[in-house]
Amino acid sequence: MKISHLTYTQEEAHIKRSVTVDIFPSALFYTIDRAYESFVEKETYDAFVIALIPFMLENSEDLYVDGTVDEVLLTHLNTQFLPQLAVISKCKKTPQISAKHTHRSKSKNSQIGTGFSCGVDSFTTLYDFIQSRISVRYVTFLDAGSHGKYGKEHTKQIKEFRRQNAAKAAQGLDMEMICISSNISSFVTSSFESSHSLVNLSCVYHLSNLYSDYYYSSAFSEKQSTLKGGDTSNWDSLLLPYISSSYLTIKSTALDKTRLQRTAFISEENTVQNYLDVCTNSLLAKERGYQNCSSCHKCAKTMTSLALLDRLSQFGNVFDLNRYVATRDMYISTYLLQKKLNPIDQEILDTLKEKKEVVLKHYFSAFIFRLKKNVKKILKK
Ligand SMILES: [Zn+2]
Repeated sequence: MKISHLTYTQEEAHIKRSVTVDIFPSALFYTIDRAYESFVEKETYDAFVIALIPFMLENSEDLYVDGTVDEVLLTHLNTQFLPQLAVISKCKKTPQISAKHTHRSKSKNSQIGTGFSCGVDSFTTLYDFIQSRISVRYVTFLDAGSHGKYGKEHTKQIKEFRRQNAAKAAQGLDMEMICISSNISSFVTSSFESSHSLVNLSCVYHLSNLYSDYYYSSAFSEKQSTLKGGDTSNWDSLLLPYISSSYLTIKSTALDKTRLQRTAFISEENTVQNYLDVCTNSLLAKERGYQNCSSCHKCAKTMTSLALLDRLSQFGNVFDLNRYVATRDMYISTYLLQKKLNPIDQEILDTLKEKKEVVLKHYFSAFIFRLKKNVKKILKK
């Protein structure tokens, strides 16, 4: 695999950086708000190299960069990150990266940053900073696959709905929110979960004149990390530090708290009560007049957690609380059907059981769901 022809263009509202990747039918590009042009570096391929790692692993292919890559980043990737991720991903071969030129930055960045989606994990990271009296001036809002496939009309609507909410929350917390978009999702064949940390961090690397430290919120606590392939959250805590370079240190955060502990940690904050956004069905949420649809899996998980913590009533601005009981019952019954749950769902189900909130009707519904599923399977045969 080869990347070349790095270009930097100024458009009306954006800065655009793009490259040619020999296995892609069109250019891979990123756009960054024009207002933050001074933070954007023009010469190095670092951001693109990080974005291409999932493709290298998927195809067991080496990468050649026809340009400049940060020397420290290149060493980290070749000696630590790629060998370890190749084992986790069960690749037959460990792909390697080589570059025409390497350099070491003399940059004196001093800002610390993090992503700001208004989800439980990003709020936890932010309030960890606030509690430690660490000031965060610039946060990022990333659009590189988490809102849907690039270019689709529904992706644009979902992104805009979530962006407006996050922008209001950021303003209230006296932070500037930098939006970075990419068309990388139009080339990704595997699910977003299996590449999201890398794709998101590739966006951040375009701001190479801004941050000295960037904190990426891992979905799991350190104890819950499984080091298995699939969702990158399984290995974030172990491997993300190896995506650091001579000018930017990447850290995985919120590792000391499980999802339920994070929800408890942030749930008394006014900003969280007014802007929390966990929904995977944002178009339905928009139609219903709330930031969260209040019936998808993630809404159910969060509403159930808040109810367990006795804080749900404070979230009437972002959830339709009238839907809670039905959503919760369906959620518990669905859990009971699963043979193996991810650590987040397992923790919630265990807590529900401890509080004796899983009752006969849930087992009965689970039994009926399973029966229907089996009948469908037989009819298909
Ligand atoms: Zn939802």
